[in-house]
Amino acid sequence: MSVLVQKYLDEIRAEHADITDGAVAHYIPELASVDPSSFGLSLELSDGYVYETGDSAVEFTIQSISKPFTYALVLDQVGADAVDTKIGVEPSGEPFNEISVDNQTKTPKNAMINAGAIAAVSLIPGADPAERFDRLLDFYSVCAGRRLDVDEEVYRSEKTTGSRNRAIAYMLQSFGVLDGDPDEVLDVYFRQCAIKVTSSDLACMASTLARGGVNPGSGIRAMSPAVVQRTLSVMMTCGMYDATGMWATTVGMPAKSGVGGGIIAVLPSQLGIGVYSPPLDRNGNSVRGLRACQSLSAQLGLHVMSVTRESRSTIRATHDIAPGVRVYELHGDLLFAGAERALRTVEHDSDGIDVAILELSRVDDINDVARRMLAGMRESLERAGKEGYLVDPDRRVMPTGRPSAGAVIFPTVDEALRAARDR
Ligand code: GLU
Repeated sequence: MSVLVQKYLDEIRAEHADITDGAVAHYIPELASVDPSSFGLSLELSDGYVYETGDSAVEFTIQSISKPFTYALVLDQVGADAVDTKIGVEPSGEPFNEISVDNQTKTPKNAMINAGAIAAVSLIPGADPAERFDRLLDFYSVCAGRRLDVDEEVYRSEKTTGSRNRAIAYMLQSFGVLDGDPDEVLDVYFRQCAIKVTSSDLACMASTLARGGVNPGSGIRAMSPAVVQRTLSVMMTCGMYDATGMWATTVGMPAKSGVGGGIIAVLPSQLGIGVYSPPLDRNGNSVRGLRACQSLSAQLGLHVMSVTRESRSTIRATHDIAPGVRVYELHGDLLFAGAERALRTVEHDSDGIDVAILELSRVDDINDVARRMLAGMRESLERAGKEGYLVDPDRRVMPTGRPSAGAVIFPTVDEALRAARDR
């Protein structure tokens, strides 16, 4: 544990613990009986380490935070094309429980509002509602890293009072969005909303998204990176009810909140956050949860739009090791902009050199785009009558395979130099 990080978290919780604004949701009668003073805050890093403070072990119902996970499940199970014919990806500009569909497509605007979430449930493969729900619960449990279950009281409470969701489901059936029996679909939806989680479970589910679909604690893959990318995109634009723009501006992470008082926020590649505090503001977001996330984002610099990476630092050093042979040492994470910078530098220098050697042993991480660009360097230098080599001692950065195709790779700079001389 880092004492400093724990202290940050404790202080942020303490800073907002005395806020008494907001009111707990009561349209689902059972939700009105929760303790409004509960306040848990959890942070899970992408290596699975968890920081938690306050009531991080108190269970509450996941409610709408279930929506991105069911959306991810159906994207994974039936594919984006099939999902897109039933559910859009646009912000609705309407309350979460609006009885409406998109004017033109006659499908729900997105999967973060009730209409879209109910449509998503209907897409879960399964012979009957029980099988669909089991599949859903298994999926959530893999994301949370423990076996989750349902708060039967909350489930029954919503099932007996959820006329509005019933209206939505029957409307969807009339538009051909729901194939099955609306009441059977709703039963799964009410159960999914009543799944019990803690703020630490939410942090784990969020960090599974942050890790591109792999639960950092168990190492189990719950979904593909493409599913995560789609899910996070919809969370970013539609996740926080009618305050999504304000959230994107002041917190700046894909997120989802629920009327149970929970919030998840995801900082891709870095961490997941889970918060629980039941009193809600007029938009339906946890008052303390929102403020705590604003503080966390500001104090720990978590806004996804903050521009921190300096792509210039990709080239660590350059030196000439023989007449006309220049070595470029690259380091750090190599994505499009870093690779572009390296290639531009090499091409700019190419008048004065015959052979460029890119030394990659200090590159930490690289994506396929950057691999293809490095592999393509040789072709662009060849056109000018020059040669480009890569040095990658154990083929960690440029493994054998398609994105590396065309590259000439040596285990050491000396061997690359020998090849340059032979040339
Ligand atoms: N079960 C709730 C409903 O459908 C979830 C709403 C929410 O958390 O936004 O009304």
